[in-house]
Amino acid sequence: MVLTPYFLADEPFYAPQADEIELFTAAHALRQPVMIKGPTGCGKTRFIEHMAWRLGRPLVTVACHEDMTASDLVGRFLLDADGTVWHDGPLTLAVRHGAICYLDEIVEARQDTTVVIHPLTDDRRILPLDKKNELVRAHPDFQLVISYNPGYQSVLKDLKESTKQRFVGLDFTYPDAAREARIVAREAGIDEATATLLVKVADRSRNLKGHGLDEGASTRMLIQAGRLMARGISLTAACQMALVLPITDDPDLRASLTDAIAACQ
Ligand code: ADP
Repeated sequence: MVLTPYFLADEPFYAPQADEIELFTAAHALRQPVMIKGPTGCGKTRFIEHMAWRLGRPLVTVACHEDMTASDLVGRFLLDADGTVWHDGPLTLAVRHGAICYLDEIVEARQDTTVVIHPLTDDRRILPLDKKNELVRAHPDFQLVISYNPGYQSVLKDLKESTKQRFVGLDFTYPDAAREARIVAREAGIDEATATLLVKVADRSRNLKGHGLDEGASTRMLIQAGRLMARGISLTAACQMALVLPITDDPDLRASLTDAIAACQ
């Protein structure tokens, strides 16, 4: 079957934060479109991977970006030896054959892409392929999931109210300190005491949000730092490389973060 490559063979490790597994399961049973809200690197993608595995559904993931057009999602005619042949895009693939389609950071994409999801996210559950003159009725198992980072949005780059109101929402934040340390330890292959130090550094960086930093260090960044430490790099050097340098170019903020790292040791 065409979606075979989209099934997850192994269970993606996921430490629940609250009752999100139960809530998503209910929304999935109703095939409701779901919006996962939260800062970057806090576990949104991992959660959807885990849920797709748990529910035994194939998962088609699309990382949205500013050059992405509706055609990148729905498909296009391409030239080959036999002339022009239609190729389904990832969204059409999921709609036709019944997958969970995860549009990561949908607001990054151009406005015309959000319009194509409208008829899919109400009772019609259809996807019009204008260029192909075809109306695809969604497979009963199709479900649309989008992620959305409320921190980044500007007035120019926000979802339209008419789009937002089609989704049910789940709020994500960074896990609490003990849980985050367990996640970092497991994912990076370090002990929990070391992971706890990294979480402390992250906590301090998150307090700088709004004071020069757009976002504090994410769980993803802590895992990268932890992986460097698992290879023998010191806490200071690993945090510099994985947290401080990528997150800011501002010398004062870098100094504040470096002080925070020193204070955590
Ligand atoms: P997002 O999609 O929110 O940007 P990800 O889901 O890619 O972030 O999370 C980044 C990494 O953090 C994941 O690859 C995973 O290793 C780890 N992670 C974050 N939260 C959890 C969690 N609750 N359980 C397991 N791993 C997690």
